[in-house]
Amino acid sequence: MTDALPTGATIGILGGGQLGRMLSVAASRLGFKTHIFEPGAEPPAGHVADRVTTATYHDHVALTAFAGNVDVVTYEFENIPTSALDTIEKTTPIRPGREALRVSQDRLVEKTFLRDLGLNVAPFADVTSLDVLLLAVQEIGTPAILKTRRFGYDGKGQARLKTDDDVDAAWAEMADQAAILEGFVDFSLEISVIAARSPQGDVACYDPGENVHRDGILHTTTVPARLSAAMRTDAILIAAKILNALDYVGVLGVELFVTQEGLIVNEIAPRVHNSGHWTQNGCTVDQFEQHIRAVAGWPLGNGARHSDVTMENLIGADMDRVSDLAKEVNCAMHLYGKSETKPGRKMGHVNRVTA
Ligand code: AMP
Repeated sequence: MTDALPTGATIGILGGGQLGRMLSVAASRLGFKTHIFEPGAEPPAGHVADRVTTATYHDHVALTAFAGNVDVVTYEFENIPTSALDTIEKTTPIRPGREALRVSQDRLVEKTFLRDLGLNVAPFADVTSLDVLLLAVQEIGTPAILKTRRFGYDGKGQARLKTDDDVDAAWAEMADQAAILEGFVDFSLEISVIAARSPQGDVACYDPGENVHRDGILHTTTVPARLSAAMRTDAILIAAKILNALDYVGVLGVELFVTQEGLIVNEIAPRVHNSGHWTQNGCTVDQFEQHIRAVAGWPLGNGARHSDVTMENLIGADMDRVSDLAKEVNCAMHLYGKSETKPGRKMGHVNRVTA
């Protein structure tokens, strides 16, 4: 697929959560149709899509039919089984491409890729057993963090080692899954850059946002981040370097730590990102439209920030605050239409435009 998709074309989206929902809204604003593929019943994206397939990522008949009905396939999460991608790719392009998924599905591959690009990452070691962990702790020292190589998100699949005494407990938490040990980074801030690349290689980066986590889940993103001009430029150059190295098409999130020695890359996400939700009310073209433009082969839009914004996630019982939040002026609400509220579940977010 090299040409731009015409309006009326159909964009397939793997995953029907809030990211799929907001991608679907953006696609429909550009005149596209959307088809969601999601194993779970009543996906939030289904409320705003033209079509929904409810099937597992191992149902190759359903995957083939889905791929045949759409012009391009994109996704809202990175842990899509390789076999599902193989089936889809027989008929239909996947954007962002397979290399971005391969790299971001496995923390060891990801850290190695970033280091080999010449970027700074935390010291890390491959951990395959308790004995290997003991050696890695000797090499890297404590404090450190042990993380499963695959399927970690929102701080899940992680164990902190304050001292060498925590080795046994940390390894037990991995439940025999392959892991990496990372040296603990003494950071002053966590930031992220949301960046987009078109099939022609044009790159557009959003202003870095400053992220605050609570209980391992993103709580707020604030723009502008408290960064020097030099660090802001560094962050953007890092994101552009990653996009080009992956020959990437679409929006990518890059999470970074700010330290006295400069920026350290924590991880990348080959998709629209929670820490980029502020762009909905801070930019002319937000991350969702930008992603759809890129995967459809359209020119990238203007991602320059026109306002200061703080995004706050609404998690679980935060939904009880909706009627009060609705009374706030300059507070844009984005609710995901999830029928069941659960502790730790992302239910929506608000963007407070502050200047
Ligand atoms: P991750 O799943 O890798 O994004 O980690 C979740 C959170 O844990 C990050 O946002 C950081 O707050 C913290 N964290 C992860 N890795 C490190 C590290 N190597 N040093 C210090 N803090 C970390």
